[in-house]
Amino acid sequence: MRWQDMERSQNVEDRRGRSLGRIPVGGKPGILVLLVVLVAGYYGVDLTGLLGGGVSQAPTSLQQRAPQASGDDSLAEFTKVVLKQTEDLWQHFFRGLGRNYEPPRLVLYSGTTETACGYGQAAMGPFYCPADRKLYIDLSFYNDMQSKLGGGGDFALGYVVAHEVGHHVQNLVGTAEQVRNLQARLDQRGANQVSVLMELQADCYAGVWGHSVARSGRLEGGDLEEALRTATAIGDDRLQRRSQGRVVPDSFTHGTSEQRYSWFKRGFDTGNPAQCNTFDSLR
Ligand SMILES: [Zn+2]
Repeated sequence: MRWQDMERSQNVEDRRGRSLGRIPVGGKPGILVLLVVLVAGYYGVDLTGLLGGGVSQAPTSLQQRAPQASGDDSLAEFTKVVLKQTEDLWQHFFRGLGRNYEPPRLVLYSGTTETACGYGQAAMGPFYCPADRKLYIDLSFYNDMQSKLGGGGDFALGYVVAHEVGHHVQNLVGTAEQVRNLQARLDQRGANQVSVLMELQADCYAGVWGHSVARSGRLEGGDLEEALRTATAIGDDRLQRRSQGRVVPDSFTHGTSEQRYSWFKRGFDTGNPAQCNTFDSLR
């Protein structure tokens, strides 16, 4: 994607290099409570199987991270450009509905950071916290994604950012709340199925962002393939096979590789969020 000359979003908080040395809570119970809140209240791309960490590990003492890699600033700039693109895009669609789009804030952090959903950790991958309407990204995930998925590229990072913004849109229009209410009445298996529909919708919204980039003439050869390869690589079936050697469909929360691929593609091809009707299968 040709982005260097494009406008950056101003809705950015840069907390990099300010990792919390120690989680300031007393004793294990406090940590456990915080982690439970986090698991229940945030929406990520779920790269935990890929990154090898996860929210179940209590972070008692975290080392200060090494100085930023040199590529980090370019990634940060690119992330701000993508955020600005999503602001313009969603402002356009919200205006069409007679509404005003309130953009999320992006927090760039390194290591660990405080959020209204609990403590964010790099190992969780990028996530959105509905309680404070912020996107949290530790850019180191991108290196993991590149080395472990055998790919990456700027458009793959854009897909991840646009997916998290998709969760913000779901939060604004009330989808997230409806989903939570529905999940409260379902068993675990049913709740997981609804979670998949929500994630696939966010993938489709990310595709709508991709469509807008294509229409502005800024796509480069291989960009779409990068995003589709990423969508495929982070399917639940693929990640489970990778981390535990087998696939348990009832435990899927984000969708299979095939589903993630096709919903991103649908958003990309149509450029229309109304086509991202993953919940229609429930009617
Ligand atoms: Zn998600």
